[in-house]
Amino acid sequence: MPSIRFSALQANTNRKAVEYEPENFVVSQIFGENVFNKKAMREFMSAEAYNSVLAAMDKGSKIGRDIADQVASGMKSWSLSKGATHYTHWFQPLTGATAEKHDSFFQPTPGGEAIEKFTGSLLVQQEPDASSFPNGGIRNTFEARGYTAWDPTSPAFIMGRTLCIPTVFVAYTGEALDFKTPLLRALQVVDQEATAVAQYFDKNVKKVHATLGWEQEYFLVDTALYEARPDLKLTGRTLLGHSAAKGQQLDDHYFGSIPDRVRFFMREFEYESYRLGIPVTTRHNEVAPSQFEMAPMFEEANISVDHNSLVMDLMDKVARRHNFKVLCHEKPYAGVNGSGKHNNWSLATDTGINLLSPGKTPKTNLQFLTFFVNTLKAVHDHADLLRAAIASAGNDHRLGANEAPPAIISAFIGSQLTETLNALEKLEKGSLSPEQKTELKLNVVGKIPEILLDNTDRNRTSPFAFTGNKFEFRAVGSSANCAQPMTVMNTIMANQLRAFRKEVDGLIEGGMKKDDAIFNVLRDCIEESKSIRFEGDGYSDDWVTAAEKLGFKNVKSTPQALDFYISEKALSLFEDNGVMNRVEVAARHEILLEEYQKKIQIESRVLGDIAGNHVVPTAITYQNRLIENVRGLKEVLDQKKFEKVAKEQLQMIEEISERISSIIGDKEAMIAARKKFNKLALAKDKAVGYCDVVFPYLDKIRYQCDKLELLVDDELWPLPKYRELIFA
Ligand code: ADP
Ligand code: MG
Repeated sequence: MPSIRFSALQANTNRKAVEYEPENFVVSQIFGENVFNKKAMREFMSAEAYNSVLAAMDKGSKIGRDIADQVASGMKSWSLSKGATHYTHWFQPLTGATAEKHDSFFQPTPGGEAIEKFTGSLLVQQEPDASSFPNGGIRNTFEARGYTAWDPTSPAFIMGRTLCIPTVFVAYTGEALDFKTPLLRALQVVDQEATAVAQYFDKNVKKVHATLGWEQEYFLVDTALYEARPDLKLTGRTLLGHSAAKGQQLDDHYFGSIPDRVRFFMREFEYESYRLGIPVTTRHNEVAPSQFEMAPMFEEANISVDHNSLVMDLMDKVARRHNFKVLCHEKPYAGVNGSGKHNNWSLATDTGINLLSPGKTPKTNLQFLTFFVNTLKAVHDHADLLRAAIASAGNDHRLGANEAPPAIISAFIGSQLTETLNALEKLEKGSLSPEQKTELKLNVVGKIPEILLDNTDRNRTSPFAFTGNKFEFRAVGSSANCAQPMTVMNTIMANQLRAFRKEVDGLIEGGMKKDDAIFNVLRDCIEESKSIRFEGDGYSDDWVTAAEKLGFKNVKSTPQALDFYISEKALSLFEDNGVMNRVEVAARHEILLEEYQKKIQIESRVLGDIAGNHVVPTAITYQNRLIENVRGLKEVLDQKKFEKVAKEQLQMIEEISERISSIIGDKEAMIAARKKFNKLALAKDKAVGYCDVVFPYLDKIRYQCDKLELLVDDELWPLPKYRELIFA
C-alpha cells in the first residue's frame, strides 16, 4: 500500500489535470446582488423605513420598534426572493473567527401549515447560546448572558441560503464581548474629533469616517497534501520540515504568471466576493512560492473590517471546491516569507476630501499637514499600543524575521515630507509675520502637492509608512481581525486630535490668529514626535542595534506586548475616549493571553505527537535497514574491507540514535514544562512560561526531525515535504 504521503502526491497530480474554469461574468451585473444595499432597500422597504436606516447609517440615529418591523419585513421579502431559508445574527467573537447560528424563517401554524416570519425584535436583538465564547471572566463576574444586536451601519447579506445580519456581541451588563463593539465606538469618537478639527478649514464638514483598505496575503496548498500534515491541519503552520533546496531565492514567484489552477480559484472567489459587494480589485503572486495576495478597494472602516472577516471565510469555502486549503497563518513555512495584512488607513470627510491627501491650495494643504502631523504624534505617543494591537502567536514569527516589518514600531514619511516637517519645526514660537506666512505658503505648504506627485520614495520595510495619501500599517498579521489595529489607530487619533484642538483653541482665545495657532501647535507636535520617524531599512540588523540606542522598544513576544493594553496610560486612553472601560480591556488582555498560551500548547502537543509517532518510528525503520545492510556486509566481506566500506553507515546508525534520543529527551522535558505551567493560576504567568520555556523546545525538536528528514530514505518519509507543499 502506498504511504499517505505518496497517495496525497498522486491525488494532487490527478487534480491538477481535472481543474475547471469558472463561467464568465460581468462584474457590474452581479456586484452586490447578495447584499441588502440601498437599491434593495428602496425596492423592498417603505420610504419611511429606508430613510430611517439611512439616518442610522449616516448619523447613528436610533431605529424605533415600528420601523424595525418594517425593515425586518423588507429584509425577509428580499431574502425569500433570493432563495434564502434561514437568517443569522453574524458576529465576530474574540475567538478570531466569525460566528453564526442559523434560524429558519418559517414557522409552523396551528392549522398544520407554515408561514415565513421575521420581525423587528428578531432583527434587532438575539441571545445566542454563546456561553462557550471567550469572555475573559466578564460574564462569570457579572453572571450575565450575552446578546447580539443589529449594526445597521453594515448591510445584511446572503451567504449560501442564509441571510446574515452583522451584529455586535455584548454582555447584558453592556461590556463588549466582540471585536466590532469597540471598533464602532472608536469610529464614533474619531468622527467627532476629526470633524471638529476639519471644521477649522471647512465649516461644511459634518462627518468624518475612517477608511480602511486591507491587503490579504495567503498561501494555497492542495487539500490532499494538507490532510497528510497533522501540523498544518491542527495549528495552521508546519512545525517541522526541512527547507526545500529551492525556495524564494530566485524571486521567480513574485508577480509571476498565476498558475491556471490558482487563477480559477481566484476567479470564482472574486465572483462570490462581487456578489457580496466586496470590491476586490487586485490579485497577484507574492514573494514565497504558493503565496498570493488579494486586495479590495478601500471602504469605510467598519464595512471594510466586516468584508475582511467575510473574505477569509469565503476564501476557505471557495477553495474547497478547487481542492485547495487557504493558509492565513502568519508563518506557515519556515525559511520563506510569512503573510501579513497591510492596513491602509485614512480619514475622509462627508464633503469628499481625503484628509491625508495633499490638496491644491495652501489651505487644503494646511489641513493635510494638520492630520498628517497629528497621526505621527498619535503613533509616537502610543507606539506601544499599536504593537499590542498586532500581537499574536502567529505574528511573533513574522515581526523581526528579516522579511516582515520589525517588532519595533516606527514611521516612514519619505524625504520630501521630512524636509517639510523640518522646515516647519524651525518656525519660531508665537504669531507669524506676513513675510513668514508668504514664505511658508509658497515654499513649504504650497509645494506639497508637487513634491508628492513625484515622490517615488517607497519604503517597504517600515511597519507604518506614509504612501502618498494614506498610512499603511504593515505589521498586521494575515490571520488578524483588522478591528483590533483599527480600534487602536482610530482611538489614538481621536485622542490626539482632541488634545490638538484644545491647544489651538487655547492660543486662539489668547488672541492668536487661527492659522498661526495651528502652525504653532503643529510645530510642537513635529518636535515632540520626531523620534518615531525612521527612514532607513527596517529589516537590517543595524536598525535593531540603533533603535535600541534611540530608545525604541523592540518587543518580540506576545505576552510582553499585550501588557501595554493594561498600562495605566492605555486604560485611561480607552476609558476617556469611551472605547472600552477597564473591565473590558482587562478581559480582552486575559483572553489574548489565554489564546496565545493555548496556541503554543497545541503546537507543543502536535509536535510531540508527530515527532513520537511519525519521525522516530520512521527513523528506526531506516536505521534497521542500515543495520541489516551492515550485518550483510560483515558476512560477505573480510574484516579490513568491511571496516572501510561500512564506516559511513555505522556513523549514520549512530547519528540516528543520537537524534532520536535528543528528540525523546526534549519531548519529555517539554511535557514536564507544560505540566508545570498549566498549574499556574494567572493567565499572564502561564503565557510567559509557555513563551520562554515551552516554545524553545519546538525549535530544538524540529531541528533534529529536519536533520532526520535529510537522512532517512525518501520512500519511508511519511509527511509531505516542503518541496511538495510549497510547489503544490
Ligand atoms: P501597495 O501597498 O501594494 O503598493 P497601493 O499603494 O496601490 O498598494 O494601495 C494599497 C491599498 O491602499 C489598496 O487596497 C487601496 O484600497 C488602499 N487605499 C488607497 N487609498 C486609501 C485611502 N484613502 N484609505 C484607505 N485605504 C486606501
Ligand atoms: Mg501594501
